Amino acid sequence: MQVDNIEIGTVVDHIEAGKAAKVMKLLDIGENYPHRVAVVLNVPSKKMGTKDIVKIEGKLVNQETANIIALISPGATVNIIKNGKLGQKYNVELPNEIRGSGKCPNPNCISVESEERFFSKEKNSYRCHYCERIFNAPELV
Ligand SMILES: [Zn+2]
Repeated sequence: MQVDNIEIGTVVDHIEAGKAAKVMKLLDIGENYPHRVAVVLNVPSKKMGTKDIVKIEGKLVNQETANIIALISPGATVNIIKNGKLGQKYNVELPNEIRGSGKCPNPNCISVESEERFFSKEKNSYRCHYCERIFNAPELV
């Protein structure tokens, strides 16, 4: 994946094939995003068979936000590009707490109406603070 001609931005690599659109939604990259975004689907990967890559100009994704990507694709890696060069690089990790992202799958949960989000990790699952039910990480996205 070339990172040339991107001065500042983020490359999310090793996304599980087919999950790029979800990653973009999570990072709030939609039709109103003003900078260049490159999405490459089904790239051959030795490690994964195939993978997706999302390259986002003009947005620096911090580790906290990047960790939310772990809900969708736990093996993703995040590369921060500054001044046209690779800066930080990190692996995503499931966060201990999620505030303001995700969605409780329980249709009767008060958080669905209120837009408040607060989940905390319990082993490999997440508990919703509003309905107290426990969900698997992929169910929240
Ligand atoms: Zn809930």
